[in-house]
Amino acid sequence: MGKSRPRAHGVLQANPLVTVLLLLLSFMLNLGSPSGDGLPPEQGVHLPETAEVGTSRLHWDPASLKGRVIVIDPGHGGANPGTRGIGAQPEKDIVLAVAWDLKGMLEYAGAQVIMTRDGDYSPGGQNANQLQARVRVANSSPGDVYVSIHSDWNNDSSITGTTSYFYSGEGYYLADALQRGIVEELGSRNLGVRWGNYYVLRNTKMPAALVELGFLSNKKEANLLSTRPYQTKAARGIYRGLVYYFSNRG
Ligand SMILES: [Zn+2]
Repeated sequence: MGKSRPRAHGVLQANPLVTVLLLLLSFMLNLGSPSGDGLPPEQGVHLPETAEVGTSRLHWDPASLKGRVIVIDPGHGGANPGTRGIGAQPEKDIVLAVAWDLKGMLEYAGAQVIMTRDGDYSPGGQNANQLQARVRVANSSPGDVYVSIHSDWNNDSSITGTTSYFYSGEGYYLADALQRGIVEELGSRNLGVRWGNYYVLRNTKMPAALVELGFLSNKKEANLLSTRPYQTKAARGIYRGLVYYFSNRG
């Protein structure tokens, strides 16, 4: 996102009715926490053994990733750096590093990964509409889900946290699962699942979500997001969210 436009990838409008309905849905699903750890051994994290919320448990089955096709969309790239925050790296570099880590984890789990960009360039080429190019890659693939990775900006430098956006239908469940996974893994502030009128979410055919990992306008979060360990943690959070999604919605 651009530095001068707080929280802006496009026009964001919160529809209160939709929000209330989705919160209600979320409550009814009553998703808890995982009961096992299916992460690759070298990247393993300890997940709580018993984590019941209310009367139901969130299913956790990493095998549910097997054979899935995941479209990973690292935001920006090339001449478009995204947010140049106050940390060492611009958004485009952070999200690409996260995307590569995530790709490795997903492939280890037996999923197939399609990247809308795998290097520092603008998808579709310098003169192409990069948003259209991202959607074209996704829609011409057999992708089961689409995950766009970004980092955030706000003029208020005290703001921190993770937000996941959806545009329609099944995308809500994907965004909700990703939000849980990322917040659990990073321990970041949970800014919630929000409706976002983003081009890439509107135009992709599969369930789609856009995650804002943290704020490059906040010194602490910007510094963390520029480190490899935190980038790997963020990837693990998205991975965890995808396990949640396919374990419970697949
Ligand atoms: Zn962005």
